[in-house]
Amino acid sequence: MTDRNDNPLLSLDHPIPFDRIRPEHVVPAIRHALEEARRGLAELVESPGPRTYENTVQRLDDLLEPLDRAVGIAAHLVQVKDSPELRAAYDEVNPEIAAFYAGLPANEALWRALLAVTASAEESGLGGIRRRHLEKLVRTFRRAGADLTAEAKERAVALQVELSRLSQRFAENVLDATNGFELVVTDPADLAGLPESALERARADAAARGIEGWRFTLHAPSYIPFMEHAERRELRRQMHTAYTHRATDEGRDNRPLVREILARRRELARVLGYRDFADYQLEDRMAGSGAVALDFVRDLERRTRPHFELEVAELEDYARGTLGYDRLEPWDVAFVMERLRKERYELDPEELRPYFALDAVLDGLFEIVRRVFGVRVTERQGVPAWHPDVRFFEIHDQEGTHLGSFYADFFPREEKRGGAWMDDLITGGPRPDGFAPHLALIACNFTPPQGETPALLTHDEVQTLFHEFGHCLHHCLSRVEIPARAGTSVAWDFVELPSQILENWTWQREALDLFARHYRTGEPLPARLFERLHATRTFMGAYQQMRQLSFGIVDLELHTRFDPEGDIDPIAFGTEVLRPFAIRPDAANGMTLASFTHVFSGGYAAGYYSYKWAEVLDADAFSRFEREGVFNPQTGRAFVETILARGDSADPAELFREFMGRDPDPEALLRRVLPGQPAAA
Ligand code: ZN
Repeated sequence: MTDRNDNPLLSLDHPIPFDRIRPEHVVPAIRHALEEARRGLAELVESPGPRTYENTVQRLDDLLEPLDRAVGIAAHLVQVKDSPELRAAYDEVNPEIAAFYAGLPANEALWRALLAVTASAEESGLGGIRRRHLEKLVRTFRRAGADLTAEAKERAVALQVELSRLSQRFAENVLDATNGFELVVTDPADLAGLPESALERARADAAARGIEGWRFTLHAPSYIPFMEHAERRELRRQMHTAYTHRATDEGRDNRPLVREILARRRELARVLGYRDFADYQLEDRMAGSGAVALDFVRDLERRTRPHFELEVAELEDYARGTLGYDRLEPWDVAFVMERLRKERYELDPEELRPYFALDAVLDGLFEIVRRVFGVRVTERQGVPAWHPDVRFFEIHDQEGTHLGSFYADFFPREEKRGGAWMDDLITGGPRPDGFAPHLALIACNFTPPQGETPALLTHDEVQTLFHEFGHCLHHCLSRVEIPARAGTSVAWDFVELPSQILENWTWQREALDLFARHYRTGEPLPARLFERLHATRTFMGAYQQMRQLSFGIVDLELHTRFDPEGDIDPIAFGTEVLRPFAIRPDAANGMTLASFTHVFSGGYAAGYYSYKWAEVLDADAFSRFEREGVFNPQTGRAFVETILARGDSADPAELFREFMGRDPDPEALLRRVLPGQPAAA
């Protein structure tokens, strides 16, 4: 057995000794932590005497903590410092980790112990967050089938296994179909309109395969610029048709899988005692049920539709009048939109970069949170991390309490995954012996510095930084005593509120004035650029919103109203649902369901609506800052006390009401997204 002291992955130091952790530490550390957890669990269930919160729930949390922590660090390193050795080590223990966690709800003795605590909760006066934690734990076990008969439990497990197999195949078919298409252009005339960066990529792609010309594919970095810029309409039609019909051809046809997945999900929901899969999936979310989520998206649809119709008419006019098309086709939309945008705003996003040098943006962000939320962020040098470029920051409150720290890993590397994310490494909070600081990280893939030029960000990248830092604050400002209910461990459709609300400051003149200065001349962002940037925010806002709503609606309709055992084909059903969202009724195409990976192989089943749900929350909550002042410290303090510090210690709807004094209202989002809406009151 490994001694905890020689394995840095099991160290309880804060910060974590990242400079000493090697791939060879992973397997022994995780096995040791698993063994300890199993031993602790056996002792817990065998311990005599009456069941209490302390000897059952608290003890379960405590015994899982070292394992959670070691697994979290190893999983994090796979994201940022991948290597064949690390991957092999992680893959070796991953099934053991998964089996251990999956086995918890199946542990009869543990389940009986939890029920015993629940039964005595009333008389023992268990209340507040402990009561909530117990109830949520019991619900998690129940949702995993803990109180089913042996036969039903077996069926539920079989369905889950089958679903994961089907989802995996669905994803593979989409990937194969995406990779299976190419458009090779050899006549330079066919490239008209394409920007230099897209041409370079296409030429390099062709050259790498030893073919002449330019190669375009259905992967986003190739497909999107092609649809936005290629002047050859016929080629856009080919690309668009291939894209929207992915995984509908022989050998990798996902259409039968759509029905199978929907049928298995419904059966699983019914075995577990729910009417349909949406009700099962949303029980623990803010929406609470499929019907509430559907009402929410349908209401936004009604309010957006008049603007959507105007925008489609505008695109039609431009296509016919300026571009001389016979009529607007689906493969014209992105192209026409781009032309119109350029003509109207003349804004090249690259033009903004010199005003957003990374260090200046960080200073601005930290100044904003100092003014608004009363926390001080300072950089600390010399803290070991997983790469020399990684920086380390500490967050203190006004009284000087160390609330938490975070690593910041800003630039791309070969062994780091793409995208941007925040992750928590240690969940602190109030403890009997004082406040234990939190530990988190934010990772991005920003444009790196080049030679003498510092890292210069686009406005999109600035928003990304604010977004991830919002998640980081949600983790680090948590004052919840139970780690499982702290920080970002909140409902899926609530978790983006703290992150998205931070993005709003990047659109405020007063906030930009704190940091948006030309990195060489120090000149503030010119009014001309600011106005154009602002105007592009609502450009085709209704069109984009209706597109997101159509995905949310078709997802919910398939998981509520659609009968997978009936005679109607899900693709035909989808086409009908999507019809009112198409540029023309006959342009609706349910075939896109065959490549809808968010819903059929990702985690968004019956949950696509959450994107808009969270936007309503953040736009609405920010409207209070707009009214009371975007730097108003009282409003900021209220946001900390009701949202950022509270984690999942109370119902999120309750927390939102505490901050706003009422339920969420979509008006603020409509003002933000739709042009010509009345200004904020
Ligand atoms: Zn986020």
